[in-house]
Amino acid sequence: MSIVITGATGHYGNRVIQELLKTIPASEIIASVRNVEKADALAELGVEVRHGDYMDYESMKTSFKDASKVLFVSGPDSDNTLRIRQHANVVQAARDAGVKHIAYTSYAFGETSQIDLAHVHMATEYAIRSTGVPYTFLRNSLYSDVFIDESLAGSVATGELVTNTGDGKLNAVSREDLALAAAAVLTGEGHENKSYNLVNPSPWTFDELSEVVSEVSGKQVSHKKVSFDQMKDYLGNVGLPAPVVELIAGIYQTIAAGETSKTSNDLTNLIGQPTQLKKLVQQALKA
Ligand code: NAP
Repeated sequence: MSIVITGATGHYGNRVIQELLKTIPASEIIASVRNVEKADALAELGVEVRHGDYMDYESMKTSFKDASKVLFVSGPDSDNTLRIRQHANVVQAARDAGVKHIAYTSYAFGETSQIDLAHVHMATEYAIRSTGVPYTFLRNSLYSDVFIDESLAGSVATGELVTNTGDGKLNAVSREDLALAAAAVLTGEGHENKSYNLVNPSPWTFDELSEVVSEVSGKQVSHKKVSFDQMKDYLGNVGLPAPVVELIAGIYQTIAAGETSKTSNDLTNLIGQPTQLKKLVQQALKA
């Protein structure tokens, strides 16, 4: 059995490989990467490194040679139309290389999502379905790492966590837990033609996040609820570029609208309880 992981030099793909190495030999793992020179550490672990660029169908097909399973990690490009083209290359290459099972990192509850990137994931799911190759859609939540990181130290300093999420709930999961779920699917059985919504079974609000940040830091931090436009002004004033401002305020608005409040037991069924909010905050604040 050989499992190819694409995007293996990225945070998530690399994490999945580290998990796989705990249960299967390195000789069964292949890293498909755009920049081979960035994968020296993987090669040192005994993982075979192959060149594969989503822009280049032939390189992807070669990187999938003799693979029984592929974990196709979605690309990070912000141009959604380009991303769909890249993803189609990868799917076509997996089909033509004779891959027996494609696991794909999709987006949780993508069919009903209003976030633009959900269209990329749905388009890719349909492309994979159209091949007839058995699939597993790992429909990842938003990464909690995006919201709970070292920047929380800034909120601790000012006593305010400013967002336009209102009372919206967020079903985010850490990248690490999502990688664990992928490893469980790749090494387990009975996951063919299944779609898993890998979300937190206990979504939290930013009021709750502020309370946990207060508890962990020992300093009072309040959630300051602002409007979409006020959020954009705030982010612009701290010096973020316009596209990033739009992206962050837009995601917060989606949270406010309730889109990320949906729950599922799919993640718990694969890995047990995901890492709790307090632990994530402690890790972010190194407390
Ligand atoms: P990441 O650290 O940015 O890794 C992205 C990976 O994609 C890198 O290995 C990168 O290679 C590779 N890549 C980029 N363009 C490529 C191309 N043309 N051909 C082949 N490989 C290419 O992202 P991550 O944290 O691992 O997350 C994995 C994916 O999840 C992202 O790509 C994105 O689609 C999605 N995502 C989800 C969330 C969420 O909240 N759920 C948040 C962010 C991203 P290099 O190392 O050579 O650049």
